Amino acid sequence: PDVAAKIAAGEVVERPASVVKELIENSIDAGSTQIRVDLMHGGLQLIRVTDNGCGITADELPLALSRHATSKVASIDDLENIRSLGFRGEALASIAAVADVSLQSRPRDAEHGAQIQAQNGRISEVTPAAVAVGTTITVRNLFSAVPARLKFLKSRNTEVSHCLHLLEQYALAYPEIRFMVFSENRQVFATPGDGKLFSVLVEVYGLQIAQQMVPVDGDDEHDDDTDYPLVQGYTSRPSCYKSTRQHISFFVNRRWVMSRVLTAAVENAYHSLLLAGRHPLAVMNIQIDPALLDVNVHPAKTEIRFLKERRVYASILRAVRKALLADPQ
Ligand code: ADP
Ligand code: MG
Repeated sequence: PDVAAKIAAGEVVERPASVVKELIENSIDAGSTQIRVDLMHGGLQLIRVTDNGCGITADELPLALSRHATSKVASIDDLENIRSLGFRGEALASIAAVADVSLQSRPRDAEHGAQIQAQNGRISEVTPAAVAVGTTITVRNLFSAVPARLKFLKSRNTEVSHCLHLLEQYALAYPEIRFMVFSENRQVFATPGDGKLFSVLVEVYGLQIAQQMVPVDGDDEHDDDTDYPLVQGYTSRPSCYKSTRQHISFFVNRRWVMSRVLTAAVENAYHSLLLAGRHPLAVMNIQIDPALLDVNVHPAKTEIRFLKERRVYASILRAVRKALLADPQ
């Protein structure tokens, strides 16, 4: 791959967890109900994502690896109402610029599958493959041709924990998807895919902590007002906290985001009830009219901008307060 392609790739692919993020977002967009992730050596040696989604037809396989090829956005109008996680069509091309990629896929109605490889930036012919319905993408030797990037990466364990943290977030956001995660051929976590957020909380935080979480369900005052978001999820009882680290996850229209303002809203709900000094655990699903969002902030970043941020803040604060006040304990 040329220098320009490698630089562009750096925008999207910072570390193994960024590859995992792009691959599982594609699997989710493909309507998968099962996603398996395999990591070897913290993802630097191998990242493999296997899904049972809609698949890619043989003639579209070369397109999937080329820059700005996306099957998800047809026009600028569509950009205003993005429902899928991906829309720029640059993730797979960027990954192929800094790693060896092999792609196997079989659409639901196809008799057999097909495969394609990208090695050293060169894309192979499409050949037949005997595979199950869905898509398997294998990423090998990440950054092996980009020593400058390799130098910045931390230990294998650090990279594994970045990947696991990310996968936990997606598992929380998509309780109806069964996630299976393996590192060095050992299963590290799995979710049942039963559609219940509580089941995922049990997997991620353990039963004891999950039982200390109270459901959050709207803020009453604004639940029917489309100018305000709907806030649902779980938040921890004041008596329960895991560590001094932040464990507050936000999903806006099912997209994982990080936001100081949203975090402050949850914390201030506790403070406003004179429950200071705690570090709450929370999982907040925020549903909002997409017209009130700017999702096109930065490729692969978990930033988000709200057009009416004060309202989002207010809804979260109220919803968390309501949940804590309603808890008998
Ligand atoms: P984007 O997600 O922004 O469209 P990507 O580079 O991530 O761009 O993927 C390119 C295209 O490859 C997607 O638009 C989609 O058509 C196809 N694709 C990638 N991964 C999968 C998958 N797991 N299942 C089905 N199609 C996929
Ligand atoms: Mg994508």
